[in-house]
Formats: sequence, structure tokens, C-alpha cells
Amino acid sequence: MIEVENLSKVYGKFKALDGLNLTIEENEVFGFLGPNGSGKTTTINLLMGMLQPTEGRVSIAGIDVVRHPREIKKICGYLPENVGFYDNMSAKSNLLYFSEFYRMSKNEALSRINELLELVELDTDKKVGEFSKGMKQRLGMAQALLNDPEVIFLDEPTSGLDPQGARLFRKIIREQKKEGKTIFFSSHILSEVRDVCETVGILYRGKLITKRKIDEFSSGYRILVQPEPFDDNLMDLLSEFGEISMSDRMILITSERDCRLEVSKKLFENGYYLKELYIKDIDLEEVYMKAIGLEE
Ligand code: ADP
Ligand code: MG
Repeated sequence: MIEVENLSKVYGKFKALDGLNLTIEENEVFGFLGPNGSGKTTTINLLMGMLQPTEGRVSIAGIDVVRHPREIKKICGYLPENVGFYDNMSAKSNLLYFSEFYRMSKNEALSRINELLELVELDTDKKVGEFSKGMKQRLGMAQALLNDPEVIFLDEPTSGLDPQGARLFRKIIREQKKEGKTIFFSSHILSEVRDVCETVGILYRGKLITKRKIDEFSSGYRILVQPEPFDDNLMDLLSEFGEISMSDRMILITSERDCRLEVSKKLFENGYYLKELYIKDIDLEEVYMKAIGLEE
């Protein structure tokens, strides 16, 4: 669905994107991970035809992005990093204004807009100028879906959202996937993409370091436990769950699966109380380092 060949963008002497090659299949949900400044937004803008590449080619659904930017915008939806709206207009008026680009009839547009505002759970007549960042993100998501696009680009969509909003966005992404859409989703948070993406690419200093299936990244679950009392018997007690290491009154279990419930049950049954129990997320930095190591 998306074909990228040797795509580069140079600003002066600085290579914001350096020779990107990437294929994204139809109906793939692709997580584009990278630290801030790695070139994610630059890439998305190039893919959408909003920025001219220094070198390379992009096509979406067989359409050349540089030559046919308007055609691309018709089949793509885009939630930018910083969504811009008319502050003195309501959510509905903003979307209605935007719908003119797609040449929708007013009735068609209005029914679509009502449906989308319900989907993103935005029910207000306030002017956008009074919106919080999270509300703007919700409106941005509605705008990205307005033309029922085949391909959806989301640039760090959950930044500025509360956890509830982030969960809603993940649900929307899953639903769009079910409808057959192709989704390109950038983020600097691994746990967020792990939930919804099938494949992940890691961008580091303008270079794509790796593209892999998401489950090839996580080397098991890391579960941290802080039991009371803390004694040497714990090591034996918990060894059935995986590899155990102890430090500073904390126990780290590296397990094949999420065994938090069984661990808490086992501890409780053996007279221990839990002060803390949580899954430690894979550190993205660690993944970068590993990925870089693999490439070298
Ligand atoms: P990300 O979205 O991953 O945070 P960006 O694509 O926004 O990264 O930026 C990548 C790099 O390119 C950054 O170092 C940024 O400063 C630089 N950059 C982006 N746009 C421009 C521009 N118009 N002129 C010069 N440098 C730019
Ligand atoms: Mg960005």
C-alpha cells in the first residue's frame, strides 16, 4: 500500500531523513518509533506529499506522492503532531469547513461529522479556542477520519491525551484496522504501539534501524514485586514463574507471560503481603541500543 524508496530529506547539511526504504502492506498497522528529533514528523510529511523530498520516491496505492499530492490527500487521513483549527469556530463548524476539500454534500458531511464526534467522544458547542490539548487531539482524530480514508497517518496521536483518551484512540485504531484500513502511527512510547501495531519500525537519527513484527521485540515480561516480609525464601517460592533476581528489597521476575495474578496469589498464600507489583515496560532506549547492536 505504501512504498518508500531511498527517501531522504536534507536541511542544509543536516540529514533529517537518510535513505528510507519501507513497504507497508494494505491493512497493516505500522508503529513508527523513534526518540524526539529522529525524523518521524519529517517522514510523515514526506509520505503525505506535504514536504518535497531531497531524494527518493513514495507511492501510496500506486499513486506517486510528489506528482499527485491532491490525489494522495483524498485517500489519506492525517492527524498532525500539532493540530491546527479555527479557534473562533466550534468543532462541528471546523469539520464542516474542512469537508469542503473533499467535495462532500452538506448533508453527507453533517451526518459523517456527527458520527465522528460521537466516535471520539467530543460533545460540546464550545469554540475550539477554549479546547484543551486532549480535546483538540480528539477533534484532530475526527478530522483525520472525515473522508473515510484508506490510509491513516497519525503523528504521536496520544500526546496530550489523558489515559482514557489514549485508550479510546487505541480502540479507534483497532476498529479502523478491522475495516481494512492501513495505519501509520508514530510514537516515542513503545508500550503504546505494542498494543495496536503488528509491525514496528525504529527510526534513529534519520535512519530506519529495523522493521520487525512487534512480538519479536519483547523478550518476555518483566515483573517487579516488593513483598513484605522480605527474606531468602522468596527466591525459591517464585522461581517457577521465571528467572528471578533480587535487589534493594525488590524482586524482578523475567517471565514468558504476564503472571502477576498467580504471583500475588502465591505470595499471599505463603504469608506475604504485596507492597508493590507491576510490569516494567521495556525501555525503548534499550531496544534502540539492541537494534543498533544487531545492525552493526
Ligand atoms: P521527530 O518528529 O521524530 O521528533 P522531526 O521530523 O520533527 O523529528 O525532526 C527531525 C530533525 O529534523 C530534527 O533535528 C529537527 O530539528 C530537524 N528539522 C525538522 N524540520 C526542519 C526544518 N524545516 N529545517 C531544519 N531542520 C529541521
Ligand atoms: Mg514529531
